[in-house]
Amino acid sequence: MALERWFRRSKPTRSDEDATPAGLWLKCDGCAAQIYRKDLAQNLFTCPECGHHYRMPVDARIDMLADEGTFERWSGALAPTDPLAFVDTEPYPERMERVQEKQGRPDAIVTGAASMEGVPVVLVVMDFFFAGGSMGSVVGEEIARAAERAARENRALVAVTASGGARMQEGALSLMQLAKTTVALEALAEKRLPYLTILTDPTTGGVTASFATLGDVILAEPDALICFAGPRVIQQTIKQDLPEGFQRAEFLLKKGMLDDVVPRAALKNRVANLLRLLRGERLPDRVEPEEGVEELEAPLEDAPTPESKAPEEEVSRGA
Ligand SMILES: [Zn+2]
Repeated sequence: MALERWFRRSKPTRSDEDATPAGLWLKCDGCAAQIYRKDLAQNLFTCPECGHHYRMPVDARIDMLADEGTFERWSGALAPTDPLAFVDTEPYPERMERVQEKQGRPDAIVTGAASMEGVPVVLVVMDFFFAGGSMGSVVGEEIARAAERAARENRALVAVTASGGARMQEGALSLMQLAKTTVALEALAEKRLPYLTILTDPTTGGVTASFATLGDVILAEPDALICFAGPRVIQQTIKQDLPEGFQRAEFLLKKGMLDDVVPRAALKNRVANLLRLLRGERLPDRVEPEEGVEELEAPLEDAPTPESKAPEEEVSRGA
């Protein structure tokens, strides 16, 4: 069994378990170092040697972002139906049943309430290991409900995206999720609640074309592929060589499509601080400066501030 998997992995596949194949050791995609699989999980699924970011399972993502014990799951009551009686290599319901059993959830998304460094949020996390994180009716509906309930409960919305695009087995219904999620986010805008997105590898297709890129602040993880159509499709269409790093997070940051690229270990703190700023709250007091640094601040206190002069001027002008 283990041997068989070893050989299968040498071929590039679109398997749902690409990121976490069995075996104790893994050869890093970034630096080719041998990584002990347990170390990878303990290191937030980033390479301890080179920092390469692997795709992260949903539960680990929620553990990383939510304050301990605060996550309250909302999603899970909706399951996909088969309105088109779709059959490709197998009937859609059978495919779903298999993936549902493996991933332990009805569709490619988890939503729920949590706090992040004490800030009340609603988390929406996509599961790329569930049918490539494809967005069908259930994913769209769960996002819409999460956005609307976040607005009702005065919580910020934080969405972590990972998706191969629309779920083709639901045809036009999956395309309607672009409009549905977009409209639902309006509820947050109306109440001036922050909506922040974290784009992870890969965020593509209809998800990129809808809620992923509508955040008030759009962050991405290092080297994440973010696109509508993938690089191969574009290259075949325009018949030109694509620039280095095309459609990767760092490239898109330079082009102004993202607000920042944030390493996974720094994400929670960055998001919490952004949410505080967007909600008009103070950032927590900074860590006490070390001895020696403190002395520099003293002379500034005696210096006249603009405010101390302003009232006099105003009075004289008014009189
Ligand atoms: Zn590495």
